[in-house]
Amino acid sequence: MIKGTTRKRTFQAIYRLLDRVSPVPFDCGTVCGAACCMAAGEPDMGLYLLPGEDKVHDRHADWMTWGVLRTEDYEFPPSWHGAVPFIRCNTPPHCPRERRPIQCRSFPLSPHFTAAGELQLIYNDDDLPYCCPLIEDEVDLDPRFLRATYTVWRHLVRDPLIRDLVEMDSRARETVLVAMGRDDYENY
Ligand code: SF4
Ligand code: SF4
Repeated sequence: MIKGTTRKRTFQAIYRLLDRVSPVPFDCGTVCGAACCMAAGEPDMGLYLLPGEDKVHDRHADWMTWGVLRTEDYEFPPSWHGAVPFIRCNTPPHCPRERRPIQCRSFPLSPHFTAAGELQLIYNDDDLPYCCPLIEDEVDLDPRFLRATYTVWRHLVRDPLIRDLVEMDSRARETVLVAMGRDDYENY
């Protein structure tokens, strides 16, 4: 399994910090039928874990199905080699809250490096197969969620593999920005 430099206890501390915050002060799943979670349970959908994040997961847990992606088969950074853990949710939108991967905990935001190398949080701009009302309506998110998520990503990008992932995604966005006639994304 792909290994980064982020330690198990760092992931545990990150999970504990993010357990205490939510993007909005209500259950946004009631607005959209938990569209993001339901998608994660669809065939051919799921979530990949960050390098080393598998250390805090039990691959035999019944709430998810464990799998791997080969880096050479998908668009991962060139520095990533081997197998990337990939999970599919068995009982969406229900899962043990304290076990949610970082991808779920960051949504609806994504980390982004500006052209000058500044870390920002932006609304997730992936080509999603569903509509997230928080993104669609650019809903104001809880400042505690924003602070905690930014702190977490500032730590995570110290890991060269994770930094390479954020860098790759950020530079890929530049192509879109240029087409839109903009210099960079606006910080959330
Ligand atoms: S994050 Fe967006 S898609 Fe997911 S449950 Fe909340 S509103 Fe729905
Ligand atoms: S792990 Fe939990 S929060 Fe994340 S997509 Fe699956 S059901 Fe939703």
